[in-house]
Amino acid sequence: MLNEKLVQDIVKEVVAKLNLGEGETGMGIFTDMNDAIAAAKKAQAVLQKMSMDQREKIITNIRRKTMENAETFARMGVEETGMGNVGHKILKHRLVAEKTPGTEDIKTTAWSGDRGLTLVEMGPFGVIGAITPCTNPSETVICNSIGMIAGGNAVVFNPHPAAIKTSNFAVRMINEASLEAGGPENVVCSLVKPTLQSSEIMMKHKDIPLIAATGGPGVVTAVLSSGKRGIGAGAGNPPVVVDESADIRKAAEDIINGCTFDNNLPCIAEKEVVALNSVTDELIHYMVSEQGCYMASKEEQAKLQATVLTPKGLNRKCVGKSAKVLLSMIGVEVPDSIRCIIFEGEKEHPLISEELMMPILGIVRATDFDDAVEKAVWLEHGNRHSAHIHSKNVDNITKYAKAIDTAILVKNGPSYSAIGFGGEGYCTFTIASRTGEGLTSAATFTKRRRCVMCDSLCIR
Ligand code: NAD
Repeated sequence: MLNEKLVQDIVKEVVAKLNLGEGETGMGIFTDMNDAIAAAKKAQAVLQKMSMDQREKIITNIRRKTMENAETFARMGVEETGMGNVGHKILKHRLVAEKTPGTEDIKTTAWSGDRGLTLVEMGPFGVIGAITPCTNPSETVICNSIGMIAGGNAVVFNPHPAAIKTSNFAVRMINEASLEAGGPENVVCSLVKPTLQSSEIMMKHKDIPLIAATGGPGVVTAVLSSGKRGIGAGAGNPPVVVDESADIRKAAEDIINGCTFDNNLPCIAEKEVVALNSVTDELIHYMVSEQGCYMASKEEQAKLQATVLTPKGLNRKCVGKSAKVLLSMIGVEVPDSIRCIIFEGEKEHPLISEELMMPILGIVRATDFDDAVEKAVWLEHGNRHSAHIHSKNVDNITKYAKAIDTAILVKNGPSYSAIGFGGEGYCTFTIASRTGEGLTSAATFTKRRRCVMCDSLCIR
């Protein structure tokens, strides 16, 4: 007699092995969250038995394929989400491939002495649930995968539905990379159609011990209420302070380069400026005359506000659009050289206090440095995410750093130097602002285990 369950399983497996376009299953893509988790669990059991060297081979292959596909990912992301800039997205994928830490981040601590040898090792959690945003979709999937696999974990993603094609293209690529390097299939998994319900299943599933959520406040709160351990990489609204000791011309250049990167989509990007009154005019002069900024009039500010902020909140059609497109939406035509819209306003101005994720940069005047700090802290809304400053006054920088208490604070450079682009240090697209891990890496996705040998193995 035919075993129906067995037949169904074989059919599922065969379908899964076929080559796979958008919306199809296979190579890590499932229709059901429970099936995705079960497959990832099997893959993790294989991964855990592999040597660190083999894990690293998988990661090396993911890096290589990401470099090869950087332009495809960039074009696909812009086309699918309607957000961002192809050139900058290519750079982001190269950055992820080159600077996301791999197994070298997994380190052992040892104590050896008369009473023996004690080790603390970083072990895998198992299957990690990961929720990813539409603003850096494949960047986050690839970055999370490299770190989580380096830590010995498999991953189940519940990506943003608005970026599912791009996110799942990354999931397939990672599984291809794993298979080619002798690793398991389904080392990362995702769904054809992720929903809030599928993420709820993930959050409650017994085989998911850790959830990493990258996105706005809603998702981080949901994950932190799930009863599981959660890594919460939430929203930001990074202010940049400019004081009178700064190189104002360079500050204008760095701020506009950071603010316009990928049309202001990165959560770390400069979202508003707080400048000392004594340097504000000079800063604006350089922004307009040398950095392609358009100074919006009061009337244009009102039109922009009505366009980008609806009664229900942020107009998603404006997020990640270029300054030229945003201006054309209010009937203002400008040349391609215009890359940022600036204006002066009070900190309470909705285009200044809201996290817009588009190249609209409000400038708030401060009477002195203490006033600047107070305004910047208010504008950061307690996210404890990112803040920036242009200053050569170490006392001012220290005062600001202590007051704003963010995971990232860039001094005298564009915001993206925080993730290793033109700055020292590694790259990540998951900055755990809410839960305090800061810039995540492979080590973040491991648990510490103490291994003690009494009275032996000390050979000093
Ligand atoms: P979003 O919050 O709309 O979506 C992020 C993810 O969460 C998506 O997969 C979405 O489907 C899911 N989601 C949303 N609400 C949920 C809920 N209640 N339960 C379960 N899942 C839920 O964010 P977005 O527009 O994709 O990305 C932009 C936001 O993310 C900005 O606020 C930005 O600052 C933030 N962000 C933070 C980081 C970081 O590292 N801290 C990185 C990128 C983006």
